[in-house]
Amino acid sequence: MHRFNEPVAMRELLREWRIQRLKIAFVPTMGNLHEGHISLIERARSLADRVVASVFVNPTQFGPSEDYAAYPRTLERDAGFLQAAGTDVLFTPTIASIYPFGETEAWVDVPSLSGILCGAVRPGHFRGVATVVARLFNHVAPDVAVFGEKDFQQLLLIRRMTVDLGFPIEIVGAPTARDADGLALSSRNQYLSADERHRAGAIYRALKGVAAGVLADGNIPAHTASATAALEADGFRPDYVEVRSALTLQPPAPGEQALVVLAAAWLGRARLIDNLRFTRS
Ligand code: AMP
Repeated sequence: MHRFNEPVAMRELLREWRIQRLKIAFVPTMGNLHEGHISLIERARSLADRVVASVFVNPTQFGPSEDYAAYPRTLERDAGFLQAAGTDVLFTPTIASIYPFGETEAWVDVPSLSGILCGAVRPGHFRGVATVVARLFNHVAPDVAVFGEKDFQQLLLIRRMTVDLGFPIEIVGAPTARDADGLALSSRNQYLSADERHRAGAIYRALKGVAAGVLADGNIPAHTASATAALEADGFRPDYVEVRSALTLQPPAPGEQALVVLAAAWLGRARLIDNLRFTRS
């Protein structure tokens, strides 16, 4: 596995591969890798000849009172996982190579997707995500990039940004890796105490309950309200439980079939997010 901190040397190698007509897949991460990330690497390997992974804890997507400083950084362990999973390049850019002037002026944003759901409670978060992914796309210039459906709002935002900015990159969504009780794997799960971890599976059960209820009687407000109440009773502090169009994340039009139920809820120090797509006929 090749490792680079600066884009210039990495681009030399990637240029060689492109001349050889090798297809390049890219998996951006913030590190502290788990099985969910590794499943994205495996998907990337199935789609391309070479896989580039990045580990970069992006300061511009954290709010002033969020966990940027505390975010778990485990680079050497991550590098071992990535190598074992068959990653060809690990890109760990310096902050200066992504933000050469410190504060960036050239932000990238997709307002229809960045201001709703998680974006409504984390102002600036998705603008930071879109901006860093655009930078990384320019440095890596992959043929395909793989993102987790676990961060469903992020996946749709990246898809839209990619099309609107004309990046010639195929965006692939990969399924959410879960623990046995349904909890979506996340670097932030380690903020949970043993007791909180024991209760955390309730969030996925709540999503399944909403989807089943909506399919049974169509009453979206009743089922999202009862899921919110159930999470509160379990000790969560929900930011939202919402059913939306799985294509636009807007409130579903009558008769719209492709739906997604999304939830974000605090449990102790951890803010957990999850979602479940379902189809109504
Ligand atoms: P992060 O390091 O949290 O920024 O995530 C990097 C990538 O891994 C994103 O595309 C996430 O959606 C994806 N990811 C995170 N958790 C999971 C999971 N449990 N299953 C699948 N993909 C995930």
